[in-house]
Amino acid sequence: MSKNQELQQRKDAVFARGMGNMAAVYVERALNNEIWDVEGRRFIDFAAGIAVVNTGHSHPRIKAAVAEQLERFSHTCAMVTPYENVVELAEQLVQLAPGNTPKKAIFVTTGAEAVENAVKVARAHTKRSGIIAFNGGFHGRTNMAMGLTGKVAPYKAGFGPFPGEIYHLPYPNAYHGVTMAQSLKALDELFHCDIEPGRVAAIIIEPVQGEGGFYQAPPEFLQALRQLCDQHGIMLICDEIQTGFGRTGKLFATEYAGIEPDLMTMAKGIAGGFPLAAVVGKADIMDAANPGGLGGTYAAFPLACAAALEVLKVIEEEQLCQKALAIGELMNRRLSALQAKYPAHIGQVRNLGAMVAMELVNDGDVDQPNAELTKALVAKGIEKGVLMLSCGVRGNVIRFLPPLTSPLELVNEGLDLLEASLAEL
Ligand code: PLP
Repeated sequence: MSKNQELQQRKDAVFARGMGNMAAVYVERALNNEIWDVEGRRFIDFAAGIAVVNTGHSHPRIKAAVAEQLERFSHTCAMVTPYENVVELAEQLVQLAPGNTPKKAIFVTTGAEAVENAVKVARAHTKRSGIIAFNGGFHGRTNMAMGLTGKVAPYKAGFGPFPGEIYHLPYPNAYHGVTMAQSLKALDELFHCDIEPGRVAAIIIEPVQGEGGFYQAPPEFLQALRQLCDQHGIMLICDEIQTGFGRTGKLFATEYAGIEPDLMTMAKGIAGGFPLAAVVGKADIMDAANPGGLGGTYAAFPLACAAALEVLKVIEEEQLCQKALAIGELMNRRLSALQAKYPAHIGQVRNLGAMVAMELVNDGDVDQPNAELTKALVAKGIEKGVLMLSCGVRGNVIRFLPPLTSPLELVNEGLDLLEASLAEL
């Protein structure tokens, strides 16, 4: 039995099934966009955790910043005795978030918590309870975040009841024939039939759906939501947990729409792999919650904040937004060539920066998703040495999230391995 298999057997014996793992690849070490497992096998990383290490694995500057922080102190609860880095980080994030309205921030530990807290703030500010979210959306695994999540299996199945006053709308998705006009009509109908706008606290949207399949909402749709929210006093929450920190070629994907959300949720790429999440929003809205009502024991973990400050410098100095665009362009070009070669199996290739997706189908038909081939391709890729993730409501999308620091020649090498994998299926 191989070392990976042995570890998997040990894990299966003591880990609850609910926390599964995609592959029996037990990591020994990782550097930039390469991972080595306990058997010495090397992988090109097209997953970056799940869109977490935008700045690459073990970035020397981030390691040094964390080591320096560790020398001084590793924990103090920011709600008891705060420290300078956390102030500095909030100062930077409120400047970097889209729009000119003065902003404030809070820190928590996970993306789901950021979503929970954004909803709390929106409800406290508006004194309303209704929340509108989208089909296919994903916002996390805590109770409210699960309720907001549109994708049922595996995230919600068996875990109800969920909080009330949550409504779901179709996400505009040209590839699957849902137009922006249809989504707006559904919103209008919701306002007329289910909940009047004056009872809605917030609309939460991913500018590009992540787990749902890497579909970008048209910028005009976000602009229309912005207008409707302004008209009715509803908070617009952009969930940038998967799209943020350079991933799409802008610091935040919302920038493509040129709008200013009332609240934004951030996590994943914020701290290069250290657990940190934030809600950043308009100052008067953020201040609606009472002192002590937001936060948590580990909120603003000092090692994560030290990492996040360095991540922001690395994104700027290493021009990671531009690199995301270059990586996305290369991947789209090569995957499109692959699509021309396998038109029956590759339905669509799409990207926004380095958030790249390839949709697998039967007979070139968008309505015949091929989840089996998707699974087989991910598994074959692992055999060959390239780590890919799947996503999508129908499980037939391969998503590519390489570290933004990936050298293009290694991106090419990963794509060669993908091509060789496909050829064998
Ligand atoms: N929101 C979005 C858009 C996400 O992609 C995720 C995680 O994949 C979350 C929220 C939840 O984040 P976490 O897993 O850190 O709780």
